[in-house]
Amino acid sequence: NLQDKLDSAFKNLKGQGRITELNIATTVKEIRRALVDADVNYKIAKEFTDKIKDKAVGEKVINAVSPGQLMVKIVKDELAELMGGEEAPFNAKGNPAIILIAGLQGSGKTTFSGKLANYLKSQKSLNPLLVAADIYRPAAMEQLRVLGEQIGVEVHLEPENKDAVSIAKAAVASAKSKNKNVVIIDTAGRLAVDEEMMNEVANIKNAVNPQEILFVVDSMTGQDAVNTAKTFNERLDFSGVVLTKLDGDTRGGAAISIKYTVNKPIKFVSNGEKMDALDVFYPERMAQRILGMGDITSLVERAQQQFDEEQAKKIESKIRKNKFDFADFKAQLEMIKKMGNMKDLLGMIPGVGKQIKDLDISDDSFKGIEAIIDSMTLEERSNPDLINGSRRKRIAQGCGKDIAEVNAFMKQFEQMRDMMKNMNKMGAFGKMMPGGL
Ligand code: GDP
Ligand code: MG
Repeated sequence: NLQDKLDSAFKNLKGQGRITELNIATTVKEIRRALVDADVNYKIAKEFTDKIKDKAVGEKVINAVSPGQLMVKIVKDELAELMGGEEAPFNAKGNPAIILIAGLQGSGKTTFSGKLANYLKSQKSLNPLLVAADIYRPAAMEQLRVLGEQIGVEVHLEPENKDAVSIAKAAVASAKSKNKNVVIIDTAGRLAVDEEMMNEVANIKNAVNPQEILFVVDSMTGQDAVNTAKTFNERLDFSGVVLTKLDGDTRGGAAISIKYTVNKPIKFVSNGEKMDALDVFYPERMAQRILGMGDITSLVERAQQQFDEEQAKKIESKIRKNKFDFADFKAQLEMIKKMGNMKDLLGMIPGVGKQIKDLDISDDSFKGIEAIIDSMTLEERSNPDLINGSRRKRIAQGCGKDIAEVNAFMKQFEQMRDMMKNMNKMGAFGKMMPGGL
């Protein structure tokens, strides 16, 4: 699926210190392929990835975060932008507000009509009326009647009437007399776009002048969804899109392509057959979902907010000179603590993170470590070699810890410094650390 493909695309960037035109080319190509595989039209995917590329190359990669993670963020932000940026307003206020539902047969119109009525009903001062204007299949009317009963919303039914336009008009008049302030008109669809159907929906539109026309589309229909959306939009100039069946093995691509092609906002997503399986569409969340990398992205965001680049540079340079000391260590701990959960964040400390991770430091032992460092003198902090047996004893007393704990920590710290030294010797830091130093 798209998520796996993007995952592997991002893997390409791991270990690279900086996003450059060169190493990004492969990644961008993979992202493009992943999008195309998810039914995003090639042209759209190309335009999108070109933009990503420009952004990524221009973007300064902060020291703490891997380029791969920053790429995820860039892609996510751009995806959200592509799908509309902010969520689109939905207007259900009117006297009555008329909402026309259109789309192909089986796309989920009737189900959505029920969900929308249910959703609006729960809002203060809204009192919806459902209208069965699918005159071709008796089962369709029955379906809406049952749904209405289930959610406790009245359904306007005229089983003998073979004119959808007059049903719609009568329903609006009836709504007014019954103090219903929202009218949701469920219409008939065909299996494919067809003139007769288009004419009928367009006629209903002209007769009742709806303030919202929602085009309902099955998100699993891929590229076809885009063409259908285009045809409906040319004819109806709809006000928004409803993406259904997002609970299935869905292809996020439809959302992207439709928005891009018809430039109409996606307003709702439908993700199940139950009446409450309806969500307002949030571009940000959808992008997140497409990427399937929520944790990583928020991590990147947090790091960008909190990471002190100056501090990081200073510490890096001390590591390079084999001068890393307890004061630096504590500064690192402070930075990590500011960023939140320890375990998630350990890997973010340049160079050091991985080593600490190997030494298995939990949130609790972090506290202990701080206490130990706190009871060192400033001189001791900057000269770890100074700390002999009697100093250790004093430090242990100062922080109320067992001497064995202090010794263990000193040993870990030594191991860490040795690792740093070795890495310096091998020249590994130059490759590992952004900026190269
Ligand atoms: P219509 O012909 O456009 O009115 O489509 P329907 O509302 O009758 O839906 C067609 C089929 O899709 C029905 O079996 C629905 O239960 C099902 N369906 C509609 N929306 C969703 C959805 O969001 N998720 C799933 N899994 N099924 C849905
Ligand atoms: Mg229907």
